[in-house]
Amino acid sequence: MPKYYLTTPIYYVNDVPHIGHFYTTVAADVLARYRRRRGDEVMFLTGTDENSQKNVEAAAKNGYAEIQPYLDMMSGRWRETWTALDISFDDFIRTTEDRHKKAVEKFWRAVEAKGDIYQGDYEGLYCAGCEAFVLESELVDGKCAIHKKEPNRLKEKNWFFRLSGYREKLLAHIDAHPEFIQPVGRRNEVRSYVDKFMSDVSISRESMKWGIPVPGDAKSVIYVWFDALINYLSGVGYGTDDAAFAKWWPADLHLVGKDIIKFHCALWPAMLLSAGLPLPRTVFAHGFFTVNGDKMSKSLGNVVDPKGVCATYGIDPVRYFLLREIGFGSDGDFSLARLAERYAGDLGNDLGNLLHRTLSMTEKYFAGKVPAPATGDTAAVWTAYEAAMDGLDFAAALDAAWGLMRDSNRLVDTEKPWVLAKTDTVRLANVMYTLLERLRQLSWLLEPFLPHIAPKIREQLGCAAAEQGKTWEQAKIWGGLPEGGTISKGEPLFPRLEEPKKA
Ligand SMILES: [Zn+2]
Repeated sequence: MPKYYLTTPIYYVNDVPHIGHFYTTVAADVLARYRRRRGDEVMFLTGTDENSQKNVEAAAKNGYAEIQPYLDMMSGRWRETWTALDISFDDFIRTTEDRHKKAVEKFWRAVEAKGDIYQGDYEGLYCAGCEAFVLESELVDGKCAIHKKEPNRLKEKNWFFRLSGYREKLLAHIDAHPEFIQPVGRRNEVRSYVDKFMSDVSISRESMKWGIPVPGDAKSVIYVWFDALINYLSGVGYGTDDAAFAKWWPADLHLVGKDIIKFHCALWPAMLLSAGLPLPRTVFAHGFFTVNGDKMSKSLGNVVDPKGVCATYGIDPVRYFLLREIGFGSDGDFSLARLAERYAGDLGNDLGNLLHRTLSMTEKYFAGKVPAPATGDTAAVWTAYEAAMDGLDFAAALDAAWGLMRDSNRLVDTEKPWVLAKTDTVRLANVMYTLLERLRQLSWLLEPFLPHIAPKIREQLGCAAAEQGKTWEQAKIWGGLPEGGTISKGEPLFPRLEEPKKA
């Protein structure tokens, strides 16, 4: 069985998940569900990054005398949020777990044995928000461009990783593997950084007290990024379960936000090369979005809680909206007005109405039984959908499904089954079978995005049990809906919302 290993970034636990985190996690979830349906054995890993100085500050601010109980509580909230929103992760890694600490220690020793760790003094500007040293040249008005805060000047004895020693190898890898960094704009950005700017990095902190101790130097803790990236290994058994690790590594896909692409496409692969491990196949960076045109921020009070918005619109519509509205890899805007429009239009009118009127007419003209199969051909739709999914172009995959849906709605309008019922019952049966069978196929195409709605479509078509055991390849075959099956029209898939939601 082919395997597919994908990851989200691990999230800082100094705050609760917002809609941006949900976006990344939903994208991973859609792919995980899709790959499982395609027949792959999937490992979908997410988790929490707990060795950050930010967490220490957050624990203190929230009145915790000890840090670990705060981390346990907060990590639990992340896990509970993803569970409540039906994210189908296979494992949840925490960087304060023993399995992770063991992996980090083994990894450090491997890099050390390679001769890539040396001691030196570090003096530089450090942005606590980025958890990274920043260059004078990167500052805007003396402040971190992302966090709008002045960095602190830090001087201490540090361990360094010989990152610059991997410049040539990284460039060669980036050039030989166009799939490694996606989308292509990001590849150019990272390539230029590796070529012109990348220098050795400090990978320990003497002044910080929370983190994984440097092996052989208990006074220092490991730099949080060096520790955190290793979660992708520790989550699949590095240092604790050799068989699992051999099975899953290298990862097929790391999904990341565009702000952390350099860590994942320069530091991380160099670390792996140093430790003698293969590199992940693809790192894909998605864009950021504004909320109703503004940057999401606590001070503006416009931080969107994914649980809240899913409680109003339903989980599936929000999943659909995020991946349809914002081109994956580009920046976009999350607008509640647009969400309401797409809920009523794409979902209510196009999908909900197609199912509803198809079932109503099947009741009316065929006593609720599926008529004899008509010929049809949807192969091009599946091909377009699969190509889009394999390229992580979620909007294009949805476009392929919506094309079939809109064409079906047009078919009703042009064929006018209510007229055919009086004039041509053979043609009527062909039209109705075509609509029903297309809806069956659509339930498969939509399922990764609408995991709760798709099974409801099959239930209403009366084919839930029969479809359950099918493979993806079997599901594609035209004519899968058997003649004589009994439909059962249910509640509308997308009921009208109580009141239009304001921004
Ligand atoms: Zn910063």
